[in-house]
Amino acid sequence: MTDDPVLRESSEPPAVGELTPPDRTLMGPGPSDVHPRVLRAMSTPLVGHLDPSFVEIMDEVQELLRYTFRTDNEWSIPVSGTGSAAMEAAIGNVVAPGDTMLVPTNGYFGGRMAEMARRAGGDVVEVDAPWGEPLDPADVEDALATHEPDVFGFVHAETSTGAKQIDVPALTEAAHDHGALVIADSVTSIGGVELRVDEWGIDVAYAGPQKCLSCPPGASPLTLNDRAMEKVRAREEPARSWYLDLSLLDDYWGDERAYHHTAPITNVYALREALRLVAEEGIESRWERHLEMAGALKAGMEAMGLGLNPADEYWLPSLNAVRVPDGVDDGAVISTLLEDYDIEIASGLGDLEGDIFRIGCMGYSARPENVIYVVNALGETLERLGAEVDAEAGRTATLDAL
Ligand code: PLP
Repeated sequence: MTDDPVLRESSEPPAVGELTPPDRTLMGPGPSDVHPRVLRAMSTPLVGHLDPSFVEIMDEVQELLRYTFRTDNEWSIPVSGTGSAAMEAAIGNVVAPGDTMLVPTNGYFGGRMAEMARRAGGDVVEVDAPWGEPLDPADVEDALATHEPDVFGFVHAETSTGAKQIDVPALTEAAHDHGALVIADSVTSIGGVELRVDEWGIDVAYAGPQKCLSCPPGASPLTLNDRAMEKVRAREEPARSWYLDLSLLDDYWGDERAYHHTAPITNVYALREALRLVAEEGIESRWERHLEMAGALKAGMEAMGLGLNPADEYWLPSLNAVRVPDGVDDGAVISTLLEDYDIEIASGLGDLEGDIFRIGCMGYSARPENVIYVVNALGETLERLGAEVDAEAGRTATLDAL
C-alpha cells in the first residue's frame, strides 16, 4: 500500500453508473436527432478495416457520398474525425505554404477557415459581409481582382448566423476566372439544403454527418475534383498533418486499399446508413422536406411575433436564427427549454451573441412532431418569462403550415 493520497484514491474502482443520458429533442445547431436506423447500424459487429467486406462498404459509402454531394468526383471520402477534420483535410492539403486564401468574414466558420489556412502556411485575405448576410458576388469579384488568391473559401450554410450563401455559381465562376480553386463549407447544408457540387463549379466541399444527415459525428464527408487533387498530388512540401494528408489517404481510399490508419468502422457503418436514407428519400425530396418543415417553424415564429434574423432571400432552413425579443434573457429561455421540455436550442455566437436563438431543423429532427413541439415550448416559455409574444397564434400558424 502507498501513502500517496492520489494513488490510493485511484486504486478504488470508480462507482460510475449505467449510461443514462437524458432523452433530448435536438433542435439546436447540431447534432440533430439520430435516425433509429443509424443507431441500429452502429450496433452491427465490427469487421477489420481491410476486410474484403469492409472494402465493399467503403465503395458503397463513396458512391452514396457522390449522390448526396451531387458530384461525379472520384475523390469522395469520409474523413475520420468531425467536420473540422474534413475542413482541415480540405484546407491543409489545398493551401500550400506561400499560397493566398480568400476567406469570408460573415460568420464564425469563415474565421476558422482563416485560422486553418494560416496554420497551413498560407497568407489570408478577406472578403467582407456583415454577420447574417451572404457574400455579394461583386465584392468577391473585387477581392479576387485585388488579391489574385490561389484558393477561395466560402461557407454555404453559416451555422452561426442562419444565412445561406446564394448565387454560388457566380462566386465559383469569378474565382475560376482568376485561377483560384474553390472550397465550400457544406457542413450544415449537405442532405438538407440544395447543394450541387459539380453543377455549381465547386472544386472541394467538406461536410459534417451530424446535421442534416442525422448521423453521429465521427466520419465526415469530403469531395475533391481532379483539378484539386492534381494540386494536392503535385505539392512540393507534404501537407503538415500526416493524419490528414490526402496523398497518403489515397492509398487507403484509392485503388490500393492499403493501411493508413484504422478507420472508425462503426462511424462508417453509421454514415452508410444515413446516406442510404438520403438515397431512399431522394435528395431533392429531402431538400423539399427541410423547406416545408422549417417553413412551418418559421411561420410559427413570425405569427408569434418573433422575427428571423436573415432576410427571406437567404434564410437557411436547416438553421433558423430567430431574434430574441426585447427584454428577454436568451440564456433563461434556453435553459428552461432544456430543463422543462428536454429540448436543445442554442444561443447566438460572436457578433450575434445575445441577439438570436439558433433553432435547427435538420435531418430526422425535421419532422412535424419536432417542429410543433419546439414552437409550443418556445411560445409557452417566452410567455412565462413575460415576453410580448402570441404563443397561440404561433402554434396555429405552424399547424396550418404542416
Ligand atoms: N463548419 C460549419 C459551418 C459548422 O457548423 C461546423 C460545426 O458546427 C463546423 C464547420 C465544424 O464541424 P465539427 O464541429 O463537427 O468539427
